[in-house]
Amino acid sequence: NDIKNIAILGSTGSIGTQTLEVIRDNSQLFSAFMLTAHSNAYLLIEQAIAFVPEYAIICDETKYAEVKEALAHLPIKVLGGYEAIKETVTHPDIDVVLTAMVGFAGLEPTINAIKAGKDIALANKETLVVAGEIVTSLAKQHGVNILPVDSEHSAIFQCLAGEQDNKIEKIILTASGGPFRGKNAEFLANVTREHALKHPNWVMGAKITIDSASLMNKGLEVIEAKWLFDLQANQIDVIVHPQSIVHSLVQFEDGSIKAQMGLPDMKLPIQYALTYPQRVKTNFKRFNFIDYPNLTFEQPDIATFRNLKLSFDALERGGNMPCIINAANEVAVAAFLNNETGFLTMSDVIETCMQQINYIQSPSLNDYLNTDKETRIFAQNLIRKMPLKAV
Ligand code: NDP
Ligand code: MG
Repeated sequence: NDIKNIAILGSTGSIGTQTLEVIRDNSQLFSAFMLTAHSNAYLLIEQAIAFVPEYAIICDETKYAEVKEALAHLPIKVLGGYEAIKETVTHPDIDVVLTAMVGFAGLEPTINAIKAGKDIALANKETLVVAGEIVTSLAKQHGVNILPVDSEHSAIFQCLAGEQDNKIEKIILTASGGPFRGKNAEFLANVTREHALKHPNWVMGAKITIDSASLMNKGLEVIEAKWLFDLQANQIDVIVHPQSIVHSLVQFEDGSIKAQMGLPDMKLPIQYALTYPQRVKTNFKRFNFIDYPNLTFEQPDIATFRNLKLSFDALERGGNMPCIINAANEVAVAAFLNNETGFLTMSDVIETCMQQINYIQSPSLNDYLNTDKETRIFAQNLIRKMPLKAV
């Protein structure tokens, strides 16, 4: 049959739940084969009852019995633990793995899925930030597609449809600028998690929302773009576009620029990744110029929002440096969300980790796993010793 079996890693998150809506609205095309959650047993159970996947997996093993019992009357295999995700993702009946877990945890399941020949619909950008070289070369070797879900990268991917290879002069990633666009360091030193969690244009998981406020999200996306589209750092520009209507642009060798536009709605890039190369009709709300008389563009303030600059530095240094900034950032963001560190100190933590953690030019997968561990411990200790607010 023509129905694609989708494995959703992180089905209970923002991208995961929107992916299930796309599957529900296109049940003639897609079926949810595997759902996974970290610890949200309640939502995983609800989703499993609605979609009856082959597998429902809860990472947190203390929640396993609860999920198992709630789904006992259904023909669903319930498993517990991260290892179960890493194994089940290779199941022969899976066609596409949509990676919507947050953070470094996405790396190993994605690598296993690629080795098993699964196409990847990639939302979990941290996977490419940490180990882009290994992941993209494995994908090539196993003949699998990495289809971008991130809206900017989907925009570029859509602009490239029908173009010949290697005619890109540069790409221009748009950034909303987040809730603190235009603010200075003095203001940022005192912002709280509640401020930072209010994104003007998108409703997303907590980690990426903080990343958007600090421009780290754009920094991670620069590195993600490098690997997805095989670019050099100097071929990637960032422009702030507060309305989030132009999702990104490609400039070709002849000087022509293509942009992809639309209202901000992640369901479109999610669906495109799953239906590519086809487009499928939707009833999503349409963009109308009457509602947006002004689309504006401005330079990012990298002196104040240092994470973007640090990300370009990490990209240029290569090796395990992007892995270091990713791990440092994950620890810093978690600490900020726990009110354990200030908004600006997150950049200090990242910069210190870049200086202090052992640099490796050509890391193996094991080196990445070790760098991640080492950086987390180092960053954790750093935060414990730091004053709460930047001075
Ligand atoms: P959420 O925090 O909303 O969801 C994360 C999902 O991953 C949840 O299902 C969560 O389970 C699960 N999860 C979290 N940690 C682990 C872990 N250690 N092991 C296994 N599963 C885990 O995140 P988002 O949906 O916002 O983002 C997911 C990814 O997509 C991120 O990489 C993000 O950068 C990227 N992305 C998101 C966009 C968005 O609009 N949200 C846009 C572009 C990219 P549980 O619910 O049980 O905690
Ligand atoms: Mg994005």
